[in-house]
Amino acid sequence: MAESQSPICVECFAAQKAGDALAPWQYDIEPTPGPGEVDLEITHCGLCHSDVHQIDDAWGTACWPLVPGHEIAGKIAAVGVGVTNFRIGDRGAIGCQRNACDSCACCKAGLENVCPKMVQTYAGPTQERGGFAKRIRFPSKWVFKIPDQLEPEYAGPLMCAGITVFSPLKRYVLSGPGGPVGKKVGIIGIGGVGHPAVGVGK
Ligand SMILES: [Zn+2]
Ligand SMILES: [Zn+2]
Repeated sequence: MAESQSPICVECFAAQKAGDALAPWQYDIEPTPGPGEVDLEITHCGLCHSDVHQIDDAWGTACWPLVPGHEIAGKIAAVGVGVTNFRIGDRGAIGCQRNACDSCACCKAGLENVCPKMVQTYAGPTQERGGFAKRIRFPSKWVFKIPDQLEPEYAGPLMCAGITVFSPLKRYVLSGPGGPVGKKVGIIGIGGVGHPAVGVGK
C-alpha cells in the first residue's frame, strides 16, 4: 500500500507566550515515525498543575509556542521500524518523560526518571510538544499499554499523579521490608496526587 509522503499536520492547543490562554495551533511532522517511534492518536489528556507552571514559564524551561500536556491516552496510529511493543490500534498512555540515555548509572539501576539526560515529554532543552493535541510522536519505549479494563480518561492522570504515588507505595509498602501484609498507610493531603494514592493504597 502506497503511503502519503506529505507531512502530517498536528492540530493542537498552544500558548504563544508566557501566561497566554491556550488557543488552537498546528505544526507539521514528518510523514512517518522514525525507527523506534510510534504515533499516538490522542483521545484524552489530563491537566496537571505542572502544565500551568510551564504555561506561565515558572521554571524558565518553556519553549514557544508551548503545547502542554503529559497525562496522555490514545491509540497507536503508526509505528516506526523496529517497534515491537505496539501495533496500530493498540491503546497507549504517555506521562511526563519522553526519553533517557539508557547507559548511565541511574538508567542501569532502573531509575531513568533521574537520568541526567532525561528528556521531558514537552518543553525543556529539546523543545518537544505535548499532549494537548490530536497526535504525538514518541519513542515507543516510553509509551505504556493501557489495560483492557481501564478507561482512557482514567489512564491519563495515572501517568503523572498516579505514578508519583505508585512509586513510593511500591517501594516502601509492597516491596519494602516485611511486605504489604498488616502495614498501615498514611496519605497526607487528598488532592490531585493524594486521591490516587488512596486508590492505589487500597
Ligand atoms: Zn504532572
Ligand atoms: Zn541515563
